[in-house]
Amino acid sequence: MATREIRIMGDEVLTKPCRPVKEITPRIRELIEDMLETMYEANGVGLAAPQVGVLRRIVTIDIGEGPVVMINPEIMEASGSQTGEEGCLSLPGKSGAVTRPFYVKARFYNEEMQLCEIEGEELMARAICHETDHLDGHMYVEKVEGEVHDVNYDVEDEPEQEEEEA
Ligand SMILES: [Zn+2]
Repeated sequence: MATREIRIMGDEVLTKPCRPVKEITPRIRELIEDMLETMYEANGVGLAAPQVGVLRRIVTIDIGEGPVVMINPEIMEASGSQTGEEGCLSLPGKSGAVTRPFYVKARFYNEEMQLCEIEGEELMARAICHETDHLDGHMYVEKVEGEVHDVNYDVEDEPEQEEEEA
């Protein structure tokens, strides 16, 4: 396993649609292992293959409940909505408010190419939407309400402002 360089917004690879995975080759296996290591090393909640420069439909997610590897993920159902701060490893140090479904159900293949289904709410739903967007060449900044701002925003500048719960 090895970590790979995370591509930063502005890199063309992040704007391109990814190709589906047809079979698990040793190369794909290595990519998945590297993606997990890269995601954990960067303290990310999720990572999509194009973020490490590979145009394949693979995402890794860990919201603190263990790793989920999704190959060729597809969102089948989405309902409700939630608005909250979102960030991306391809735009370090920044975040912005994005509205996403509160609940999603997705279908994907696991590392044995078995068809699986996952349901997620709150952060999991947000992560699934964020990562699958990457596979179509989209970044969360396209959906930000208001402005993308620095994560280490100096709250002392505006002592009256209270943080809103997402
Ligand atoms: Zn991202």
